[in-house]
Amino acid sequence: MRVAFLGLGIMGRSMAANLVKAGNDVTVWNRSPKAVEGAKTAVSPKEAAANAEVVWVCVSDTAAVEQVLTGKDGAFESLKPGMIVADSSTILPEISVKFAEQARERGADFVDAPVTGSKIAAEGGTLIFMTGGKDETIQKLDPLLKAMGKTVIRIGDNGKGLGAKLAMNLMIALIYEGFAEALTLATKLGVDQQALFSLIQSSMVRSGVVDYKMPFVEKRDFSPNFPLRLMHKDIRLMLEAAKESGVKLPALETVKNIYDKAHEAGRDDLDYAATLLTVEELAKGK
Ligand code: NAP
Repeated sequence: MRVAFLGLGIMGRSMAANLVKAGNDVTVWNRSPKAVEGAKTAVSPKEAAANAEVVWVCVSDTAAVEQVLTGKDGAFESLKPGMIVADSSTILPEISVKFAEQARERGADFVDAPVTGSKIAAEGGTLIFMTGGKDETIQKLDPLLKAMGKTVIRIGDNGKGLGAKLAMNLMIALIYEGFAEALTLATKLGVDQQALFSLIQSSMVRSGVVDYKMPFVEKRDFSPNFPLRLMHKDIRLMLEAAKESGVKLPALETVKNIYDKAHEAGRDDLDYAATLLTVEELAKGK
């Protein structure tokens, strides 16, 4: 398929590379110039989308999606009937629904296709997609979804993929914070870290989140797989969505305080696992 891929960050660069590897005709665009081997490079989203059947987006946040789709020289300037726009960025569901309406007004279609699996799954083509949109449109995207991921879960209409994504990341944020606080307490109590890790891995508290993060925490490697600023952004989205729908998320509000502190400490570009450093500082009375 002829695909325009917009956004070559930690996730997008590997997703685009996997589309190339699967034999698609890919044109990439990134705000700061970047290339992907085997893909053409465009100077704007509009140019990238000019000849595309599918426009795939993976950028930071709502403002970035707005910029690449509906901003000056945005992809929507090249939108033609029959084209499909798929967005893997994590943004507010209701705003994604508005993008879908705008795409449909032009005879195109739109799917929210957020992902889980982080950097390692993006590299390995083993992402899990949760999709929102029309079944027949998602069906057309199947070869592309299979090139980038191992599982596609159809959640529902437009915006529902993102609703599920926010719920997923809520759990990830809470599970990791549980791990960070347990580790900090156990260390203070003189528990050997390796013994604690073995116990976690062999007990019911084992989780995919901990499986992913433990090797990094062991090495104290906080280089970004999922940057802290993006999880912080997702927490704000969850709280906004909760407020609008009358839901209270007291545990998440507490976890947000840790992210606020980590942000103040200049940890935005580290992995969100670096919230451990903030919990450790609190334990030292800092
Ligand atoms: P990232 O490495 O920070 O990359 C962000 C991308 O967005 C870059 O290409 C950046 O361009 C672009 N961008 C930011 N602001 C922009 C703007 N105003 N206009 C145009 N482009 C803009 O982020 P990532 O980890 O790839 O994440 C991308 C999306 O996937 C986010 O919504 C994130 O929440 C979601 N996600 C991430 C993970 C993960 O584990 N990393 C997992 C699931 C979902 P520049 O290169 O020019 O800065």
